[in-house]
Amino acid sequence: MKIAVIGIGAVGSVIARELNMLDYDTVLFGRQPKSGFTISEAGEEFFYPYRIETMDAYQGEPFDIVFIAVKATALNNISQTFHHLINEGTEVILCENGMGYERYFNRPVPAVVYISGQKKNDIIEHFQDSTLLIEDNPHPNIDRLITALDKNPETELEIKKSEDFERIRYEKLLINLGINSVTALSKNTSKIFDLESVTQLTRSLLEEGVAIVNNEREIVSPEFTDRAMAIYKNYNPEMGTSMYYDVIANAETEYIYIQKYLYGKKGNLETPVLDVIVTLLEAYQYKRGY
Ligand code: NDP
Repeated sequence: MKIAVIGIGAVGSVIARELNMLDYDTVLFGRQPKSGFTISEAGEEFFYPYRIETMDAYQGEPFDIVFIAVKATALNNISQTFHHLINEGTEVILCENGMGYERYFNRPVPAVVYISGQKKNDIIEHFQDSTLLIEDNPHPNIDRLITALDKNPETELEIKKSEDFERIRYEKLLINLGINSVTALSKNTSKIFDLESVTQLTRSLLEEGVAIVNNEREIVSPEFTDRAMAIYKNYNPEMGTSMYYDVIANAETEYIYIQKYLYGKKGNLETPVLDVIVTLLEAYQYKRGY
């Protein structure tokens, strides 16, 4: 079986490292060619000498599975430039946060990603977890890979299937909606939940998000807001979020696929907090040339 991983950053490097332990032909694609990558875990650095190439230089056969682990903002472009990597049997796993980018692909397999890390300069810090969750549908190639991963005790990567995928995916979107918004816009870490004002604001934002998700039918339990607030309060106070790190680095955020995605679904619902959050995130990116 031939497998590709596009985007060898915090998420893609962990997927790539684990796939390389299997007896498959795995090819890694980045923006620039490189002779390998370094992952730091619990303070120790490990170099993995797996060649990274660029998609435009690839002249081999199409792949059976393609993992795409870039920022969601890069997906539209990739969907238009990776046709030589795929054929009608290729299963494309999208490893991004957010929603609304599936429309760029034929038969995408979106995943909820439980791989926590951060790329800093040329080192990838892997904090915890190596799991991808996908919907419980048959995918012959992915199913073979799942079996191979299960049989190989050395590999940490797990691909799990869930019949409850829709709810879990929306819950992840809502978790990101709450904490990403307030950490990015305050440029501060999870310690801000010490402030009652931030807690109240985040709660209101989540309630609006839950109302949007449940507008047509109940997908997420209404008590999800309480659960999410408890999760935030338990985070390490120094923990940032991807959107926080993007803003600190003056980089483009994924707000189009998180906050703006929900905003686009609000219909007639009153969402005063979300409206302000979306306006400010839009303004943050305005004329920055992304
Ligand atoms: P990173 O920025 O660490 O990695 C993205 C990688 O994609 C970079 O190495 C980047 O290259 C590469 N890339 C960008 N464009 C292309 C392209 N056209 N072709 C090939 N490679 C490309 O992001 P993350 O891994 O953190 O995030 C990926 C997704 O996973 C995001 O949607 C994120 O929200 C989600 N996620 C991240 C988690 C985390 O803890 N990091 C947790 C859960 C989800 P370059 O370095 O040159 O820019």
